[in-house]
Amino acid sequence: MKPAPFEYHSPATVAEALALLREHGDDAKPLAGGQSLVPMLALRLTRFAHLVDLNGVGALAGVELQPERLHIGSTTRQRVLERDATVAAAVPLLARAAPHIGHFQIRNRGTVGGSLAHADPASELPAVAVALDAELVVGERTVAARDFFTGTWTTTLADDELLTAAVFPVWSGDVRAAVHEVARRNGDFALAGAAIQVSVDDGRVARAAIALFGLDSTPVRALDAEAALVAGESLAAVAALAVRDVEPNDDIHATGAQRRRIGAAVVERALQEVCGG
Ligand SMILES: Cc1cc2nc3c(=O)[nH]c(=O)nc-3n(C[C@H](O)[C@H](O)[C@H](O)COP(=O)(O)OP(=O)(O)OC[C@H]3O[C@@H](n4cnc5c(N)ncnc54)[C@H](O)[C@@H]3O)c2cc1C
Repeated sequence: MKPAPFEYHSPATVAEALALLREHGDDAKPLAGGQSLVPMLALRLTRFAHLVDLNGVGALAGVELQPERLHIGSTTRQRVLERDATVAAAVPLLARAAPHIGHFQIRNRGTVGGSLAHADPASELPAVAVALDAELVVGERTVAARDFFTGTWTTTLADDELLTAAVFPVWSGDVRAAVHEVARRNGDFALAGAAIQVSVDDGRVARAAIALFGLDSTPVRALDAEAALVAGESLAAVAALAVRDVEPNDDIHATGAQRRRIGAAVVERALQEVCGG
């Protein structure tokens, strides 16, 4: 099918893009990589009279290493996370997560901001943002990632707002990261997945960040599991704790009980990788 007719806008600045969104209200939608929005328009699952293409807004693209933080412009392609040595050194979990997103053709177009704004609960990048306490920049305001995702495909973004950047903390020391997931086919969204970053000091986990995806309507941060890992509990016990409070639904892909079992398994695999067990 073809999308319903729309007017295409190509602003050059953030101010122009915001003015278009304000002018057209809920008839307008930002277009980033188009990897989620365009299929939805083509299938007529949604329609907008105005598309505001962000790809000509140069100020929104690029990665900048700042003191103790990595600033990622919202239209930075997902492929950059996978290939950029600065990203891998500064925030290893981003580099580990990116290859799990769809296929490389999707990552070549799909953007970091698009993935976060789309807020699919089975997406990798929202889970990484929640795990690492990223800050999401929405014009003048900054939202903690844990407050940004409010439900399936739902965030605190208003119709006339843009996500302009995501800012991730840079951990110091011996930092290790792993992302494990189970999907029905290579490149599919995960049935369940785990994103884990730890720092290791003298052979022990000194700091841990654990988030799950595909297991609830938003990414789930597993704070009790993080504390148990730092306290030296067994990896199996940490994995069981990580999925203790999740509430996955039954759907056509898997039952909630299956997702919970897969969740515990992927957490344990990721823990084995980062802890060298
Ligand atoms: C076959 C296939 C497999 C996929 N597999 C995965 C997967 O395994 N994991 C995964 O995470 N994703 C997957 N995706 C989705 C892909 O990662 C998309 O790139 C991503 O979800 C959206 O990013 P985008 O830049 O393409 O955004 P778009 O499709 O352009 O936009 C998505 C939504 O975000 C809004 N938006 C975009 N940018 C902004 C902004 N800066 N401010 C405010 N709103 C904004 C748009 O208005 C729209 O509502 C898959 C897609 C396909 C087609």
